[in-house]
Amino acid sequence: MPGRAEYQALLAKVESFTDRVKEGQGQWLKCGSGCGSCCHLRRTAWAVELDAIRQLLNTLPKVQRDTIKARLSSPEVVNGDRCVFLDNDARCAVYGARPLICRTHGPAVRLPNADVVWCELNFDGMEPSVVMETISGDSILDIELLNRTLGLINERFISVRSLVARDTLDSTLTDDV
Ligand code: SF4
Repeated sequence: MPGRAEYQALLAKVESFTDRVKEGQGQWLKCGSGCGSCCHLRRTAWAVELDAIRQLLNTLPKVQRDTIKARLSSPEVVNGDRCVFLDNDARCAVYGARPLICRTHGPAVRLPNADVVWCELNFDGMEPSVVMETISGDSILDIELLNRTLGLINERFISVRSLVARDTLDSTLTDDV
């Protein structure tokens, strides 16, 4: 399915980038399994990302899928900001297929307005100017560039999905005639 391979390639690139950043800034980063502090923000995911999550969900044991399903109707999820995939041990139930935004939160990123931000748990409360002097420019992820790339991949994924739906519709109509 076009779009899927490109999305996996983009994930691999981002993972290798974040691995390099963690190697260089590891002493200042608190990001790690069991934190989950950035999973209490309202997040959105693109269709191609949801497709990857859906595929992963299909591999989970039924009991785990039922737990996620139950969370979808819990007031904590409906009214709050807790991600439906965040397990009670603060681990991600769909970690292998988590969206790109989840993979980039924590280390420094450049926003579309050129501001550079990072998780407040990181960098030991250092002054922003000190952080900026400490980290190298090529370790700051450009969120706008990433989103634009993801958007293009998503468009490709969606357009092919539409074609498939159209083909199915066409053949159904033809069969009916
Ligand atoms: S998908 Fe996983 S990593 Fe992303 S916000 Fe939800 S629980 Fe956290």
